[in-house]
Amino acid sequence: MIFPEKTPHEIKADLEEALLRAQPYTQQGHLADYIPVLGKSDPSMLGISVTFLDGTTVSAGDTQVPFTMQSVSKIFSLIVALQDRSFDYVFSRVGMEPTGDPFNSIVKLETIKPHRPLNPMINAGAIAVSSLVSGSTADERFERILDLLRRMSGRPDIQLNQAVYQSELDTADRNRALAYFMRDSGIIEGDVEEILDLYVRHCAIELCSADLSRIAAILSNDGFDLFTGEQIVPLPIARIVKTFMVTCGMYNASGEYAISVGVPSKSGVSGGIMATVPHKMGIGVFGPSLDEKGNSIGGVKLLEELSARWNLSIF
Ligand code: GLU
Repeated sequence: MIFPEKTPHEIKADLEEALLRAQPYTQQGHLADYIPVLGKSDPSMLGISVTFLDGTTVSAGDTQVPFTMQSVSKIFSLIVALQDRSFDYVFSRVGMEPTGDPFNSIVKLETIKPHRPLNPMINAGAIAVSSLVSGSTADERFERILDLLRRMSGRPDIQLNQAVYQSELDTADRNRALAYFMRDSGIIEGDVEEILDLYVRHCAIELCSADLSRIAAILSNDGFDLFTGEQIVPLPIARIVKTFMVTCGMYNASGEYAISVGVPSKSGVSGGIMATVPHKMGIGVFGPSLDEKGNSIGGVKLLEELSARWNLSIF
């Protein structure tokens, strides 16, 4: 038995019912067309995978469709940066507080002193984190983030989506502005274009919802691989990233989401949501139609349904 009182068949039926209820909401959202290639997704798609700590994965809906991680990848650049640098060093460059502002906002960078981005889940904070990932070349820095994701998903073939990467790089002026401002304020050092390139590259890593649920299950399992028992993410780091998922993972809707779903989660503008239910399961959702804050509109509904049905809230 993988979930105390349910068989895999019943779990699948629950997922399908939640999906049916959430599906209509996909019509009310919009695509992240500020990255032109993402604007070409099918907004009606919605899918979910759940991986339990015995390694079993159950999926429903559009789960074969690959998508880029976007902001979900910020968790993994942070894990690598925290392995490379001390806790104090990382958090001298990026704060720990929610912003209440949109993910790409520039406003508080100038008004708050020191001009440190408020947290690693907003774009400015994640760009600062990218600058802390070690490696002798840009390729090596990227490979280290990719390698972590390959190990956690058990999928050695996970790759960058070149078209999304190029499309975002061509239109990344706001992120470019954030990065140059941060170099001017001494938050980041070095070649801004190279740092930005790493950030855009890790956002364009492509996977599908079952990969995401498996990765999330390792975070639920305190960083231990489900099959080998190997500690892939050190426990204190797993704890830090899960805390950020609660406080800042769903952009400036994190407070509302903590009440309605109550599970550490991180979303991305491609429509992915990674949720980790401590010591129970990892969840990967994909639905590219977004609400006004940038979260998958159908995905959030789906998780609300499931959280209520399975009593998943950690609070
Ligand atoms: N690559 C995206 C950007 O920088 C990530 C944003 C997101 O998913 O929130 O705009």
